[in-house]
Amino acid sequence: MSNTNSELETLLMQRSLTDVELLAAASAASNYRILPDATVIKIGGQSVIDRGRSAVYPLVDEIVAVRKNHKLLIGTGAGTRARHLYSIAAGLNLPAGVLSQLGSSVADQNAVMLGQLLAKYGITVVSGAGLSAMPLSLAEVNAVVFSGMPPYAMWMRPAAEGVIPPYRTDAGCYLLAEQFGCKQMIFVKDENGLYTANPKTDKTATFIPKISVDEMKAKGLHDSILEFPVLDLIQQATHVREVQVINGLVPGNLTRALAGEHVGTIITAN
Ligand code: ADP
Ligand code: MG
Repeated sequence: MSNTNSELETLLMQRSLTDVELLAAASAASNYRILPDATVIKIGGQSVIDRGRSAVYPLVDEIVAVRKNHKLLIGTGAGTRARHLYSIAAGLNLPAGVLSQLGSSVADQNAVMLGQLLAKYGITVVSGAGLSAMPLSLAEVNAVVFSGMPPYAMWMRPAAEGVIPPYRTDAGCYLLAEQFGCKQMIFVKDENGLYTANPKTDKTATFIPKISVDEMKAKGLHDSILEFPVLDLIQQATHVREVQVINGLVPGNLTRALAGEHVGTIITAN
């Protein structure tokens, strides 16, 4: 270990920071899991929260029950209000960095609402999900709520085309799971998982219980149930090399997925 460290130190002082040998030495040293017992769950904006009470109340009940056995980082999506903002801002020719801030404000709104519903159980909304008071809350009450948009704001890396921020709340929630070395990442949406086509518009679409990122890309499904940059993040990940997308409108699914059951679509790095 100390050998590796001194070797890494020498490389860091002498080489370019993207030198191949340096990167290999650095990745050998960076295996610490910060929150290995926690699971990140993303509650969809458009797919869940925008449906209001009928979708959200049962999930709140389930979260309150399951957090007795699981440590949960609960991230919120943005959804329809964000899409409305994006269409106005894009029409005004504003850049991705501005749209990113607008999207954040909607994910914040959803975190505020979910936080109010969970307040009486001692579950709080953390503003800097990148730690701050989060570990303490997690230790005390087994759950925190955070706003799912990654805080890139004006520094959002723009897509090749258009001004829609490519890293939105799927990416924000996934990145936290990976950086913290969490044990699981569950996306809670409104379909049973991935289908061969969008089941909302194609009634012949069939369900895919398990698929790799490469297979998803080969089938042209890279831009479907998850934001497409998330697929590359999964493939490059050290810790969270598979995610499950589940239907949060079916009572019990979240509980079962947290218990390690396969109830939706599992997307794997390879
Ligand atoms: P979120 O609310 O988390 O942002 P989205 O609404 O962005 O979730 O993504 C979920 C939606 O993706 C589903 O409601 C579904 O209509 C759509 N979708 C598009 N293509 C597919 C597909 N091939 N399989 C499943 N869902 C798909
Ligand atoms: Mg979405």
